[in-house]
Amino acid sequence: MREEDIYKAIKNRSIRAGILRTWENLHNAVEQNIERYRFLKEYAKDVKMAKLEVFSDYDRWTEKAMKSIESRNKCSVYYAEDGKEARKIVAEIVGRDKIIVKAKSMVSEEIQLREFLQEIGNEVWETDLGELIVQLANEKPMHVLAPAIHYSERQAAELLRKVGVKGYTAAELAEGVRKFMRQKFLLADVGISGCNAFSAKTGRIFLVENEGNIRLSTTLPKDYIAIVSIDKILPSDELCLKLVILQAAFLGTFPPAYINVNEPVEGQRMHVIFLNNGRKQAPEFLKEQLTCIKCGRCQIECPIFQITGSLWGNVYGGPMGMGWSGILGEIGYECFLSSLCGKCKEVCPMEIDMPRIIRELRKMMVRGNNLGEV
Ligand code: SF4
Repeated sequence: MREEDIYKAIKNRSIRAGILRTWENLHNAVEQNIERYRFLKEYAKDVKMAKLEVFSDYDRWTEKAMKSIESRNKCSVYYAEDGKEARKIVAEIVGRDKIIVKAKSMVSEEIQLREFLQEIGNEVWETDLGELIVQLANEKPMHVLAPAIHYSERQAAELLRKVGVKGYTAAELAEGVRKFMRQKFLLADVGISGCNAFSAKTGRIFLVENEGNIRLSTTLPKDYIAIVSIDKILPSDELCLKLVILQAAFLGTFPPAYINVNEPVEGQRMHVIFLNNGRKQAPEFLKEQLTCIKCGRCQIECPIFQITGSLWGNVYGGPMGMGWSGILGEIGYECFLSSLCGKCKEVCPMEIDMPRIIRELRKMMVRGNNLGEV
């Protein structure tokens, strides 16, 4: 991040207004969820322990996960070491001149999949309302789960005019996008999603959502591609279910409208790509970040994120973005932006010690080391 970007973000009132609006909507909802559903803390402990176990031996668990789905008919399984390999596999499956509907997925942001598929001659549509707004604005998501929080209704309406959506209120815009998207769902050749949790036992993909667009993206097209970053592997269906419940509860949207459990079905070709992208090579001090369930609570609650938004970090912003940028080998001087107040650790369901991680990243920057030398 450059210094001028920080000043630009500070002067951008719509970032602050949007994040404050989201904080007002979600802060109390999350607090109430924690108070009301006491089992959430137990779920978090179980998921964290399972994730630590999985990445103590990623190779074995990835092999187990791949085998569990490989045996199914109508399913092809791949492994990609990095974004380049993943894009190559997707390009071979998709080809060109196709219509692709895509569910919101941060791992696809990591590997810049939408831009790549467009470059090789495909029509690609984000199907999540917020992500579509971000696509039309040609920006990256502001928040891991709420990508367009910095846009007011009026600004969103202006962007959605580009695809012929009329109206001004949230309800009118949602209705317009629904109609626009239905056409794309019906015409789409390929659907693409990420994965919130993957059960190594049964080979099932768990995805949580509130709009219903993920189930249409992953079931209607003849070809369905799921990109599973290896930190999403969990030993059982039960743990996967606990994780998606936690993610929804800590975003303040619990109970979620839909939990999708995807597996190969008749009439559709399914392709599952397991992706490493730096996870296996993460240095010891960054391992705890891999237990992150990407609920985005640390972003909303962070006093610096509330001013600058996601402008710190290439893909992931805010406190969690520091650790994830480190894992992706993309950390820069933005790690000095944190005030180290500790709010991120306090609100994180997985109790990840982000101030400790940020201090380690700073030490590295000062020493001029790169991650491989730590
Ligand atoms: S670091 Fe914690 S609070 Fe932040 S997104 Fe990950 S799990 Fe959520």
